Amino acid sequence: MKGRIVPANKEWIAEAGQMIRAGALVAFPTETVYGLGADATNGEAVARIFDAKGRPTFNPLIVHVLGLEQALIIGVFSPIARQLTEAFWPGPLTLVVSRVATSDVSDLVSAGLTTIALRSPDHPVARALLAEAHRPLAAPSANRSGHVSATRAEHVGEDIGDKAALILDGGQTFLGLESTVVSLVGDVPVLLRPGAVTAEAIEEVIGGRLARHEETGKRLTSPGQLASHYAPRAHLRLNAYDWQPDEAILAFGAIPQRPAHAFINLSESGDLVEAAANLFAALRALDASGAMSIAATPIPPNGLGEAINDRLRRAAAPRDQL
Ligand code: AMP
Ligand code: MG
Repeated sequence: MKGRIVPANKEWIAEAGQMIRAGALVAFPTETVYGLGADATNGEAVARIFDAKGRPTFNPLIVHVLGLEQALIIGVFSPIARQLTEAFWPGPLTLVVSRVATSDVSDLVSAGLTTIALRSPDHPVARALLAEAHRPLAAPSANRSGHVSATRAEHVGEDIGDKAALILDGGQTFLGLESTVVSLVGDVPVLLRPGAVTAEAIEEVIGGRLARHEETGKRLTSPGQLASHYAPRAHLRLNAYDWQPDEAILAFGAIPQRPAHAFINLSESGDLVEAAANLFAALRALDASGAMSIAATPIPPNGLGEAINDRLRRAAAPRDQL
């Protein structure tokens, strides 16, 4: 039943909602482009999105919600953020805000950042799916990394059909252009990605100028690109085959437990999906253990291993690369 394109009627949307709750990936139309959706609170389902897209890095994903009420459980909304949701939600405006600390959204969704991108789609099929799933949906565009976004169900089928349990066919998407992404995390609102809502329309609502990301310097613009953005306080040692008892161990696969300051195995069975789902929480916990050094055992370079290794290399990079 992999990659089955089905009509986006009531019955299939109900089925798709159940599949989402069971951890499957479902492709669905939004007013912008088709999204590849997973339960944002299920780390392994989110890891399968990265696997399906073949992304070599963990870019943060947009979380789709029905509206502000659901968004408030996940993100912190300032008065300006609320104003923007009133003006443009539901619609093609994604807001990057601080995460609510207690949110049960997987930290893989925001690639370990303390911020989260949220939007409320304005498409009847996307909204019906959100209502049926009773979950926030992490959903990037439903295409292989580097390919163009899909605006028809058949395009999704051709590109990543074998990765989605179901593709809800809602015809051609209305806009065919991605959502506008605005960050409200810093001192001033910043346009991170131009999209379907114009900067001028946003500026009219906020009553001021929207900073362009080129102006704000690298620090704000592309968090995922910064070499050591995810650097733990402790020194991180990669491809370690052996360790000292005072080191904290980030293990993968069948690694025997020898004395260590702390020990977390990302996946004893060597499952890269499970490992990706556990990665950020494990790094944080090992850092919090107080060890001066974290030793990571080798992780294979294939599949999701590429993105896991990319993230570990960034975390191990010297701070002066910031
Ligand atoms: P797509 O995967 O095509 O839906 O694109 C998602 C966009 O949202 C990318 O440009 C991401 O960099 C951006 N994005 C998602 N989450 C965040 C975040 N927490 N901070 C900054 N940008 C984000
Ligand atoms: Mg995309």
